[in-house]
Amino acid sequence: MAEAADFRADILAVAAHRDDVEQTCGGTLLRMAARGLRTAILDLTQGEAGTRGSAEERALEAAEAARILGVAWRQALSFPDGAIENSLANRLEIVRVLRLLRPRVVILPYWQARHPDHAIVATLGYESCFLSGLKKVETGSEPHRPFKIVYASLYADVRPSFVVDISPFIEQRHLALMAYKSQYANQPAGSSLFVPEEEIRERTFAEARHYGLLGGVKYGEPFVQKEVGLVDDLTLLPVQSI
Ligand SMILES: [Zn+2]
Repeated sequence: MAEAADFRADILAVAAHRDDVEQTCGGTLLRMAARGLRTAILDLTQGEAGTRGSAEERALEAAEAARILGVAWRQALSFPDGAIENSLANRLEIVRVLRLLRPRVVILPYWQARHPDHAIVATLGYESCFLSGLKKVETGSEPHRPFKIVYASLYADVRPSFVVDISPFIEQRHLALMAYKSQYANQPAGSSLFVPEEEIRERTFAEARHYGLLGGVKYGEPFVQKEVGLVDDLTLLPVQSI
């Protein structure tokens, strides 16, 4: 895994918790890596509030998941799990990472979510991307503003702007999620809260199938973009209408 200061990412996924990315956009990261793009993940917490597993276990599992996803760079900050705040100090921590990796695209969680951390990260991440482009925000490195922000909306009940075809990568995506053995392997701790492994497979594949159908493919991951799309040639528009 790259640690060098000169590493540059094409795409950076920012998430509240280790395993969020695996659940919402792991297939997309796999597809982008297969296209030769450099992908990276920034998790904002260490996962210390989870019912199962320690932060240390989750760190090892996150590294293994990153390897399975073909991600070249992954790190976790130490924001408090379950109590992430959109503070200036936190924005500046993310700005440092944005200026280090200089991604063209940033993936954030969708802004309406059941878990408060996810909703806050959507705003915190957006504001960090904005600040990162300002010369007067001094962090000792050059300003950088990502070109594009998209929101991974799989957790949200919202119509996506587009889906990414992850059909060839669905099994690999599942393997990445299952790398979090402390969370998902069948075990007694928290068994009233957590669903069995087989059920996780069925649920995640069913969700991916649902979003795939919206895009006319087998399995897909949904995203929302705030901007309107721009089209050059109507005859090249994807997804059949009738
Ligand atoms: Zn989460």
